Amino acid sequence: MLSSLPRKGCLSGSRPAINPGMTKPSGGLADRPFRRPDLSRRLNRARVLRSIRSHAPVSRPDLERLTGLAAGTVQTIVDELLAEGLLEAARAPAAGVTGRGRPRLLLQLNSRAALVAGVGLFLPDRIQFEIVDLSGSRVAVLERSDPLPREGPLLAKAIVQGLEALARSAGLQLTDLSGIGIGIPALVDSQAGAVHWPPGDIEDAYPLADVVERQLGVSVDLDNMGNMMARAEYWFAQSREDDFAVVLVGGGVGMGLYANGQLVTGVSGMAGELGHMKTGIDAPVRCACGAWDCLTAHVGLYRLARQALGRLGDDDAWPFDVRDAGDQVLALASEGDAHVTAVLDRAGALLGTAIANVANLVGPARIVVIFETGAFVEWIGPPLIRSFEAQTLPPVRARTSLIVRAGLNSLSQGAAAFALERIYAGPDVKLA
Ligand SMILES: [Zn+2]
Repeated sequence: MLSSLPRKGCLSGSRPAINPGMTKPSGGLADRPFRRPDLSRRLNRARVLRSIRSHAPVSRPDLERLTGLAAGTVQTIVDELLAEGLLEAARAPAAGVTGRGRPRLLLQLNSRAALVAGVGLFLPDRIQFEIVDLSGSRVAVLERSDPLPREGPLLAKAIVQGLEALARSAGLQLTDLSGIGIGIPALVDSQAGAVHWPPGDIEDAYPLADVVERQLGVSVDLDNMGNMMARAEYWFAQSREDDFAVVLVGGGVGMGLYANGQLVTGVSGMAGELGHMKTGIDAPVRCACGAWDCLTAHVGLYRLARQALGRLGDDDAWPFDVRDAGDQVLALASEGDAHVTAVLDRAGALLGTAIANVANLVGPARIVVIFETGAFVEWIGPPLIRSFEAQTLPPVRARTSLIVRAGLNSLSQGAAAFALERIYAGPDVKLA
């Protein structure tokens, strides 16, 4: 096993020393505005706003019941939100009001109090943009199908130009936005806004969030696809558990994990890297991180296709037409190719094991597995489910639902939700 090989890129060796006197990596928390005011205050405020978003119009006593917070806490938060203009009196009649005394003030979100944008980057040639209001309703959308630039400054430029076009189409200025979220298929330090092991020739630890933020003058947050899809699930899915995981299977494997209503980020902002969970089994192709036994090295389409198509000698995953390779794999599977179907079966079994480990470890109410190339669900889904069923502890399995589905269309929605999180959490962003 060659897991001791150096990783692609090196944090200290490939980045310019922006702050040579600091021991912390530049581009980290020390370089960005402090965005974590008192945690309990942030959580309570976000809880109140989410309850209003889901149940409006609501009264203060409704909010006490919905959030479990004390009357004084609700009062303070509501007063703060009214003063900021995020809440307004509901226009709906005050249902349930008795004939005596003053009618209770019913509250709702002032949806137009803030607008945010989400950007979803898909390899190799698709970018989604959207603008949503404070309640998360879509105001404008744009999708471009140009190849993603392979250099950091050019990628930032493509994002800026797309956002400018989107704002124009909606009759808005970019300065009308209170925040922007960007989702990218890479290892992302969301706290620093930096991209590790990015696609193409982008330098390691490229500070994409800061570069876009400087050009637009709007607060920018960056995260990977797994976390953005988990946010989309938390904010926009019908069932809203506080404990769930979203697993993405595409060129690689990603995951976003919520526990107690909070995305698990870890101290690095890089938690949830299921794709680099070690299987203990060497894969025929090395993972982008340098190890040989990562889950992604077995089941990520960039590598799975090489194994299935007998192209193991093609060492570098880029450039590589993953869609064409995926189509070839699926065609051979449909023809009954024994080698290809065995590769897909094994991929499903390994994914099922990994997801069973997630269930046994953190006990989510729901695990959603999303295949970027939907046709693979037919081949990898059944062995995945069998493996999951066999390896999840029965009492845990009884409380965890597993959903396997195709399609990855709400990345920009999750990215916009990231920007909304900032507003819901605290008054450290400019409002429109
Ligand atoms: Zn890896």
